[in-house]
Amino acid sequence: MFYKANRLDVIEPSPTLALTAKANALKAQGVDVISFGAGEPDFDTPEHIKNAAKRAMDKGLTKYTAVSGTPSLKEAIIAKFQKDNNLKYEKNQVIAGVGGKQVIYNFFMAVINPGDEVIVPAPYWVSYVDIVRLAGGVPVVVNTKRENDFKITPEELKANITPKTRVFIMNSPSNPTGSSYMRTEIEKLSEILVKNKILIFSDDIYEKIIYDNNQFCNPAMISNEVKEYTFIANGVSKAYSMTGWRIGFGAGNAEIIKNMDTMQSQSTSNPTSIAQAAAEEALNGDQKCVADMVVAFDKRRKLIVATLNAIKGFQCGMPTGAFYAFPYISEVYQMDGFQKLMKDSGEKSKSKVFCDHLLQKYNVAVVPGIAFGDDNAIRFSYAMSEKDITEGMKRVAEMVSSLK
Ligand code: PLP
Repeated sequence: MFYKANRLDVIEPSPTLALTAKANALKAQGVDVISFGAGEPDFDTPEHIKNAAKRAMDKGLTKYTAVSGTPSLKEAIIAKFQKDNNLKYEKNQVIAGVGGKQVIYNFFMAVINPGDEVIVPAPYWVSYVDIVRLAGGVPVVVNTKRENDFKITPEELKANITPKTRVFIMNSPSNPTGSSYMRTEIEKLSEILVKNKILIFSDDIYEKIIYDNNQFCNPAMISNEVKEYTFIANGVSKAYSMTGWRIGFGAGNAEIIKNMDTMQSQSTSNPTSIAQAAAEEALNGDQKCVADMVVAFDKRRKLIVATLNAIKGFQCGMPTGAFYAFPYISEVYQMDGFQKLMKDSGEKSKSKVFCDHLLQKYNVAVVPGIAFGDDNAIRFSYAMSEKDITEGMKRVAEMVSSLK
């Protein structure tokens, strides 16, 4: 007998994870696939972090921990906020979870009631909209403009606030656009949000991957008043190349943290004890590994953006953070060859047709912009070798030139 819960009707499987699985399946069949799909660094987890996990096992730290994380991991999280952001939190204001994604999920499950509205600037990270829906909320998607570097303006924000607005989502640096909000921009947005008593959800997962000596800023850093309204989600996946370890963390109002702890206690319980020890070392240990990775990402960023802009019909701005390039390809959609592809596919989404053809015929995996709420673009993750970037981009250029 097959049963299906109605809650599944409002969500879809993560398109980025689905694409990565498809690319990996092709690789397993021996196909030479170049994947710009996965949002994960290609580096190994640094040695000192792996050693901390080994030591934890040897010491027998293999049992349940407190649901919201070990006291020593919480201390490391508190020290991180103090050191990097000059923010002071107490132990009851922080929580560790099974990846940033669980922290985000538990936050929305803990604060949203049916019908509550959450403002999500688009292009957005694939999971926000589905998580808000799972929590019974209504995502209010606000399309940002390319000429504003895909950042929401104070006017656009104000125009979308209603009496039902509970949360505003901010993700800086952004997945998928790679753009980052400046302090002055955050000041203006947070003034409006605080005035309207709207919680600010700040996803800082790409905090450490920032270029050209730009200064990272989140809303909690603006003032104590804004900090009261801000919840920060972060994690070790991207900064320390620890995607598989599944440790994320959050900081904010103690009552919200307590409610998230309750959610977590009835789902996963604590994040893996050994991974917590590794995350503690990542946060407390030498940060040179992060700086080295950012230097490598920076070279790749310049390479991929230059190569993308050399393709006819592609327009790509220079990302200021994260490891994604988000070229606009609407001119490609006008090409005769592409229009024929659209007709043959019977599919509505242009970015999907483009990416399907690229994977099927040229063995290159790229995520369609529609997954991020913008069908005019496609997303490349450049967390891969320069050699693979060059080869992959050669194939993309070949496909586009075949479409004329
Ligand atoms: N937030 C953003 C914007 C992301 O891109 C990701 C991962 O792709 C996450 C959160 C979740 O990361 P994790 O669950 O691996 O910590």
